[in-house]
Amino acid sequence: MHITADRGRCVGAAQCVLVAPAVFDQDEEGLVAPVTVDPAGADRPAVRQAVHLCPSSAIRIDEE
Ligand code: SF4
Repeated sequence: MHITADRGRCVGAAQCVLVAPAVFDQDEEGLVAPVTVDPAGADRPAVRQAVHLCPSSAIRIDEE
């Protein structure tokens, strides 16, 4: 799995940080700042949930 987070779309809702704190953080502007773009297997279900919860569709994942 590879994550692409589009900071231009991010509205700082923090849903991704709440559901997958090991993978997503926010910078000082409140915008998404991934901790890693290649999450460990145990974190992947939470990453998929973050994709669904993000209100601005700012997170994309490549499952390969
Ligand atoms: S859930 Fe979406 S809008 Fe909210 S901080 Fe994460 S990437 Fe940004």
